[in-house]
Amino acid sequence: MNVNDAEIVLAILKNNDFEPTKDLIEADVILILTCAIRDSAEEKIWGRLGFLKGLKRTRKKDRPSRLLGCMAERLKTKVLETSDMVDLVAGPDSYRDLPRLLSLTDTDQRSVNVLLSLDETYADISPVRLNENSISAYVSIMRGCDNMCTYCIVPFTRGRERSRPVSSILREVEQLSEKGVKEVTLLGQNVNSYRLKPKKGGLRFADLLNRVAAVNPEMRIRFTSPHPKDFPDEVVEVIRQHSNVCKNLHMPAQSGNSVVLERMRRGYTREAYLELVRSIRLKLPDVALSSDFICGFCGETDEEFEDTLSLMEEVRYNQAYLFAYSMRERTTAHRRFKDDVPPDVKQRRCLKRNKI
Ligand code: SF4
Repeated sequence: MNVNDAEIVLAILKNNDFEPTKDLIEADVILILTCAIRDSAEEKIWGRLGFLKGLKRTRKKDRPSRLLGCMAERLKTKVLETSDMVDLVAGPDSYRDLPRLLSLTDTDQRSVNVLLSLDETYADISPVRLNENSISAYVSIMRGCDNMCTYCIVPFTRGRERSRPVSSILREVEQLSEKGVKEVTLLGQNVNSYRLKPKKGGLRFADLLNRVAAVNPEMRIRFTSPHPKDFPDEVVEVIRQHSNVCKNLHMPAQSGNSVVLERMRRGYTREAYLELVRSIRLKLPDVALSSDFICGFCGETDEEFEDTLSLMEEVRYNQAYLFAYSMRERTTAHRRFKDDVPPDVKQRRCLKRNKI
């Protein structure tokens, strides 16, 4: 997601006469695109800000950095009030406002815009690719999320779910095809719920995938992530019909225990997840599956975590990622539950996964 956001920011700034540089000393403006999904991601940003502060005196323009994205939205004015390392904060829906915000900092004012939008999809912006020579590209099809999994901060930092118009997605895929891009990954927090207004009866993800796949049968199409709670048969059917839609599915399970899944508000049980895997493998026998898991979520016992390990063994993923839970403020878990699994137990559970 952040690569795609960076490409949107680049396009907006290029249209306003900025040119990108990788030279930190020469740069007039340093933008840091942030992620708030885990505590460790935020820690890295603080480290980076400290490093850039150390560089300040050697830089041509002795200016603080500018913070963009989810962490900016999460910490809002707190960053400006408590740190002299930043003078501009812009949330994920305010990138269009960047030229104005930057001009304010030019007159030594601190600027902030973290308003979330109900309809911003940057549909009319053609992202400028960070690596023009790459044969792969990301195309955002929607922004935000309405699912409210109890551990997740995304609905609070990236706002309500919005789908990008199909014509704008197809136009971008066509342009990428003309530029020789060989592989496109469609991006959304929950691609299954892609739907154009009206929410009921609008065009669905399966239709979009079908149209994207038809743009260039030589171009490989991937997508991430589908939510296991509402994986439609139609999507599997489209994958089956198009040889250029990769038979790789990333299906984040998060836990293998139904009680933990309920606490996480994931909307499916272990049994329903396994049934979905079985039915997908029946229709797509050569499908490659990958997944994300969390260990040490609030109240998770050793036995409940064993169910996660046994699910991994049963599904035999091609790839599975296991992350130690880190509680995020503003989430439902933060309000309702206790982060009561000690860090050493989370660590031990993470290590156990390596033995599978
Ligand atoms: S589906 Fe759940 S985990 Fe994924 S972004 Fe939405 S709230 Fe977060």
